[in-house]
Amino acid sequence: MKQVVEHQSDVLVIGSGAAGLTLALHLAEKSKVILLSKGPLSEGSTYYAQGGIASVFDEEDTIESHVADTLVAGAGLCDEPVVKFTAENAKAAMQWLINCGVAFDKEEVPAGSKKEAPYHLTREGGHSHRRILHAADATGKEVQVTLQDQARNHPNILVLERYNAIDLITTRKLSRPGNRVQGAYVWNRDEEQVETVKARFVALATGGSSKVYQYTSNPDIASGDGIAMAWRSGCRVANMEFNQFHPTCLYHVDARNFLLTEALRGEGAYLRRPDGSRFMPDFDERAELAPRDIVARAIDYEMKRLGSDCVYLDITHKPADFIIKHFPTIYKRCLELGIDITKEPIPVVPAAHYTCGGVMTDLHGQTDLNGLYAIGEVAYTGLHGANRLASNSLLECLVFARAAAEDIESQLGKIPMPSSLPAWDESQVSNSDEEVVIAHNWHELRLFMWDYVGIVRSDKRLERALRRCVMLQQEIQEYYSNFKVSNNLLELRNLVQVAELIIRCAMERKESRGLHYNIDHPNKDESPKPTILQPD
Ligand SMILES: Cc1cc2nc3c(=O)[nH]c(=O)nc-3n(C[C@H](O)[C@H](O)[C@H](O)COP(=O)(O)OP(=O)(O)OC[C@H]3O[C@@H](n4cnc5c(N)ncnc54)[C@H](O)[C@@H]3O)c2cc1C
Repeated sequence: MKQVVEHQSDVLVIGSGAAGLTLALHLAEKSKVILLSKGPLSEGSTYYAQGGIASVFDEEDTIESHVADTLVAGAGLCDEPVVKFTAENAKAAMQWLINCGVAFDKEEVPAGSKKEAPYHLTREGGHSHRRILHAADATGKEVQVTLQDQARNHPNILVLERYNAIDLITTRKLSRPGNRVQGAYVWNRDEEQVETVKARFVALATGGSSKVYQYTSNPDIASGDGIAMAWRSGCRVANMEFNQFHPTCLYHVDARNFLLTEALRGEGAYLRRPDGSRFMPDFDERAELAPRDIVARAIDYEMKRLGSDCVYLDITHKPADFIIKHFPTIYKRCLELGIDITKEPIPVVPAAHYTCGGVMTDLHGQTDLNGLYAIGEVAYTGLHGANRLASNSLLECLVFARAAAEDIESQLGKIPMPSSLPAWDESQVSNSDEEVVIAHNWHELRLFMWDYVGIVRSDKRLERALRRCVMLQQEIQEYYSNFKVSNNLLELRNLVQVAELIIRCAMERKESRGLHYNIDHPNKDESPKPTILQPD
C-alpha cells in the first residue's frame, strides 16, 4: 500500500513557463511556494518563443501607439483598460527580467564609446514602431533558462517536476462553507501516485490548449489543463473561439511542431499548390505577405478544395548561400529530415499556435474562485480580443504575474492555511485494460477539431463537432471513473473539455471577426461582445 503524501505551501503555482516562473520568483521573496511542472521544468511554449517581447523602449515610440496597435489587432474585442494597463506596466516588467539576468540583444556601439548600448528592437507585423526586445531568434529559451535556474536555487521555492495537477480542491467540493480554493490533487508521474497539495492560494499558469488540434506549433504540454480545471471548479471561461493559427508549420512525420518563420515569406518565398502553381495572388493583393490569418485561411481553403495533405513553401529561387545565411536553423533541421530547402519546396500546413481565450480574470489575475489566479496563456484578461498582436503574449505573462504577486502578498497574513484535506480515493479504480481507447479518442478528437472547428468553420461543421465531442466526453468520463490515471488519460479528459468550450463559444458567435471565420456568418456585428461561458 502506497503512503499518503500531503504537501503544504502558502502558494501553489501550477506551471513553470514565463507566467509561473515570474509569479513564483516574485512571491518567494515573502512566502513559501510550490512550483509544479507536468514535464521537465523547461517544457512549455515559453521555451520555444522565437521573436521576442513587446515593450516601449524607443524614445520615438509611445504607450499610446502600443495600445492603438493592440486594439487594431484585437478587431474590436480588446478590453481597453486592460490593454492600457499592460502597455503601461511593460517597461517595469522587462526591467525586472533584465535585472534577473535575461540578456536581450543590444545595438552595436563604436569601440571605446562610454555610452551604454541601447537594446536592439525589432519590428513585427501589426506594430507601428520597433518595440520588440529579443535574444537573437531564441528569446523564449533565454527567458526560460534564466528564470528557471533562479527558481531551482531559491530556498523558498520547492520545485515538483513531472507532476500533473489533476483537479483543484475547493471548499464547495468539500462541502465546507464559502467558495475558495484549498489546493489540488497532483499526480506524481515517477511514483505513479496521486498526492495532495494544500495551499492558501493557487495560481494556474498552465499555458494554452492548441494541442486540441491535429497540427500545432505548441509543445505537448499545451492540453488546456488549467482551463478545464478552472471550468470544473466553477470559473467562467471566455473567447475560446479565437485560436490563432500559424500559416506555416513543417509537414513531416518525424517533425511535429516545427515552425517555419514568417521571415521566409518576408524574404520572398512563395506558397505553391502540389502542382507547383502559386495561389496567394488569387486571395489577396499582398499575396504571400498578407496577414497571418488570411494566409492560413487561403492554405486551408486550397487543402480542403484539393483534398491535399499540405501545400509547399518555396524559396529555391533565392541563392543557396543567401538561404543558408538567413535561415540556418531551418536549413539544418530540414536537411536532417531529407529536405534541402535550397533545392526543393518545403511541405507545410497551418498549425494551431495561440489560445486567445481562457479563464476569466481581473487585472490581478484573480478568477471567479477566491484564492485562484490564472496567469499567461491559460487566462482571458481581455488583452488580445479577437486576435493577438505578435509578442504581446509573453508580455501578458510578465505583467499579470507581477500584478497577481502583489495581490496575493497583500492578503497573505489574512488567509489561514486550509485544514486537512481528504486523500485521493483510488479504491474504486483498477489498472487500465485497453489503452487503445485512449489512443483512438486522442486521434479522433484532434482530427475532428482540425476538420470542423479549425480555420474555417460553418454551422453544420460545428454541430457535427459538438455531437462527436459529447459522445467522446461520455466515453472518457467512464474510463476516468474506472481506471487509474495516466498522463494521456488526464490530458485527454482536459482536451475534450476544452474542445467543448471552443465549439460552444464558436457556436455562440454569429459573425466572423479576427480569428473566428464562419462561412454562414461572414460579416461583422456592429456591437461585438466577448463570448462568456458560465459553468452550471
Ligand atoms: C513556437 C512558438 C513561438 C512563439 N513566439 C512568441 C514570441 O516571439 N513572442 C511572444 O510573446 N509569444 C510567443 N509565443 C507564445 C508564447 O510563447 C506563449 O504564449 C507563452 O510562452 C505562454 O507562457 P505560459 O507561462 O503561459 O505557458 P507555457 O510556457 O506554455 O508553460 C506552461 C507550463 O504549465 C505546465 N503545465 C501545464 N499543465 C499542467 C498540469 N496539469 N500540471 C502541472 N503543470 C502543468 C507545463 O508543464 C509548463 O511548465 C510563441 C509560442 C510558440 C509555441
